[in-house]
Amino acid sequence: MKYDVIVVGGGHAGIEASLASARMGKKTLLVTMLVEQIGAASCNPAIGGLAKGHLVRELDALGGEMGLCTDSAGIQFRILNASKGAAVQGSRAQIDMDRYRTYMRKVCHNTENLEIYQDEVSSLLTKDENGLEVCGVKTKLGEEFESKKVILTTGTFMKGLIHIGTSTYDAGRAWELPSSTLSTQLKEFGLNVGRLKTGTPARIDAKSINFSKMEEHGGDEKPTPFSFRTDKSTFNPKQHPCYITYTNLGTHGKISSNFHRAPLFTGQIKGSGPRYCPSIEDKVNRFSERDRHQLFLEPQTAMATEYYINGLSTSMPIDVQKEMIHSIAGLENAKIVRYGYAIEYDYVDPTELKHTLETKKVKNLYHAGQINATTGYEEAASQGLMAGINASLAIDNKEPLILRRDEAYIGVLIDDLVTKGTAEPYRMFTSRAEYRLLLREEGADIRLSEYGHKIGLINDETIQKVQYKEKCIKEAIDFMKEEWFTSKKENLELLEKLGQDKIKDRVLLLDIVGRNGVTTENFDELCPQFKELDNYIKEQIIIEAKYYRYVEKQQKQIEKMKKMIQLKIPESFDYKEIPGLSNEAIEKLEKFRPPTLFNAGEISGITPAAVDVIHLYINLQN
Ligand code: FAD
Repeated sequence: MKYDVIVVGGGHAGIEASLASARMGKKTLLVTMLVEQIGAASCNPAIGGLAKGHLVRELDALGGEMGLCTDSAGIQFRILNASKGAAVQGSRAQIDMDRYRTYMRKVCHNTENLEIYQDEVSSLLTKDENGLEVCGVKTKLGEEFESKKVILTTGTFMKGLIHIGTSTYDAGRAWELPSSTLSTQLKEFGLNVGRLKTGTPARIDAKSINFSKMEEHGGDEKPTPFSFRTDKSTFNPKQHPCYITYTNLGTHGKISSNFHRAPLFTGQIKGSGPRYCPSIEDKVNRFSERDRHQLFLEPQTAMATEYYINGLSTSMPIDVQKEMIHSIAGLENAKIVRYGYAIEYDYVDPTELKHTLETKKVKNLYHAGQINATTGYEEAASQGLMAGINASLAIDNKEPLILRRDEAYIGVLIDDLVTKGTAEPYRMFTSRAEYRLLLREEGADIRLSEYGHKIGLINDETIQKVQYKEKCIKEAIDFMKEEWFTSKKENLELLEKLGQDKIKDRVLLLDIVGRNGVTTENFDELCPQFKELDNYIKEQIIIEAKYYRYVEKQQKQIEKMKKMIQLKIPESFDYKEIPGLSNEAIEKLEKFRPPTLFNAGEISGITPAAVDVIHLYINLQN
């Protein structure tokens, strides 16, 4: 049987890759080990968070599924950093993990052009006509499927090894079989395969928790959906609380007195773990001066029968896990349903990839998700979507979709991975983006939906809504840029009413609306000509006004940068002339002879600093 695209793995990356490819009209096969586990949340029952929320919104604007699924399976919605500026706010939702899986499985099963098959892909079929090329997959049961493209999204499954104290067992996730042979073949292809680690906490039986000793932590009074396609006005899911408690010195004592049994410290675990999501033993070791660490108890599903202890990830032996949990307020009599564990797995160095997520060494092979050394559902899903899109575009001989760093966090994510690589699991932060003010969560639809529409993942009705919103915002901003707000008596009274400083002579209306204290409630008094607009558009106008001056500056920098990366490198350019370029960089640049600075930056091992130096030297020669 011949397919256009085969996706290996039905996790967060694999789902988005399969759906994108099938929805773009490509005959797609998703091969995954357990159909029930399509869309399983391996760790915390939550989607989004700071910067991760941005990824979900961008994915949604491009036509991905994660936002819609979260709106359907969400059991608590919050905007994090709500009191801070729009650029650093992030949406987060607790999800019902069962509902999330069921939703995703149903969507995958009901998508035209998408077939699902349960098995383990044991190897890739290859041919070697114009260099090494992938042309399908072979499974453990002996099935062979041919395809034009293969997308690997194997998550934590390749040679997965679980650690709980000194016990270890082979698994891709607790009690699920690992993918045992694939990474050996990837090594044979010459790809740089490494080892990473991540971990998860214990899950507790709700009946055994004393919630009265904990602080209740609810969702936003007015929940905001993730997807631009969910109707905000009717969105009102039932919300469930989380609970806050803390570790204490007793907990820390139990952990530190057992460091000699912690696989993280005994040398049993060799892979690097996520720096920003450390295990409790790592936190107790690194921050020994702290007398407590905050923990969130999060319901795994709307049934709220089991709670995930966010902040207590561990691979300590089970007797230590039991003791430390019982030392925590509210968990004195806790019954453990599932113990925490760490997992080591094989990943492939992401600098082996082009910006399209196709590997440089093996044609038609794409990698997305945790296999690329990232951590997190949102990072995985974003890459999956882009791999699915680019594999489909390549089949049609169309230009790839490569999002720039100033266009999307997804652009930052992929650019960071493929140009810099990472020595530890990579997660997204707002600080990784140079152009945060441009990449605000709430504006993702305006930034990216046109792309989604052009490739067929966003329908006409949705794009028309986005275009209308964009037009209204533009008209309002253009008006406010020209309109003076003068210091006449009624204007000064209005400013006083809004709690704003007086003005002397006149100020552009744009700069008045951009001041703190302007809300959708009082906007009409400043701009009565726009009072008929929907509140969500007014909200956007106010945010745009607030950031307008900064965004203008950033856009000038971006124009400069765009010119720079398009700069042509003369064919005879002598890289050896440049002091400071490493021998490895010179060798690669001479071998590949990149035609532009952008292409130079795409070569693995050529850092942004090296690109800057080359830029400088070309300018000196001209
Ligand atoms: P996964 O969700 O792992 O999905 C991989 C899929 O591929 C699975 O369905 C599997 O069955 C299938 N598969 C694999 N190999 C094959 C094969 N050869 N043939 C067929 N099917 C195959 N993220 C965080 O952000 N914070 C955390 O604290 C965190 N902790 C974690 C702790 C643990 C123990 C684990 C396991 C994961 C943790 N994660 C955490 C990571 C998070 O689960 C992943 O980032 C995310 O699920 C990755 O998505 P993915 O699609 O790349 O892979």
